[in-house]
Amino acid sequence: MVMRIFAVVFVFTLFQNVAAKAANEPFKGYDIECGYPIVVERTNRLSQAHQDQNGNFVIILDPSLSEPRQAFHRRFLIAHECAHHRMKHTTRHGLVKRFTAQHGVRDQEMSADCWAAEMLTQAGMLPQVIDIADQFWRRGFVSPGGGYPSGIQRSNMIRHCARLAVAKMRLKMARLGHPAER
Ligand SMILES: [Zn+2]
Repeated sequence: MVMRIFAVVFVFTLFQNVAAKAANEPFKGYDIECGYPIVVERTNRLSQAHQDQNGNFVIILDPSLSEPRQAFHRRFLIAHECAHHRMKHTTRHGLVKRFTAQHGVRDQEMSADCWAAEMLTQAGMLPQVIDIADQFWRRGFVSPGGGYPSGIQRSNMIRHCARLAVAKMRLKMARLGHPAER
């Protein structure tokens, strides 16, 4: 529980920092809050959670995400990549699982989407999270390949996890009430 609250607080401060540094990209981002430095360089996947040759875990963002209209998309992708590192998807073991387990890629992608949706919702960004879910929905039922989930699968997962976050917040709010009000 305490860890959970901590996570919400640090993700929130993280986004404020990222927003503040966005004008000075490449920004360090995430150093303190998520623990992973951000590197801005061309990548055909837009964003990537990656372990470099020195064994450091980094988040790679494509420069196209620096455009102001990409602000929330970038934020969502940073949270998504952060989740991959936190869930150890980028360790040797995580990578083996990704490419050998049945639905390995799909499951890791959906887990990262879920974590991102939950954290951003708890940080007060539910409308933007729903926007991202709608964008995925418009991509339809077809997987982009490589074992990745379809847009509709991702959209459903993001909405589901945003809903879970709201339910958890409601529960917390209820506990704030006086015992006689419950
Ligand atoms: Zn991913």
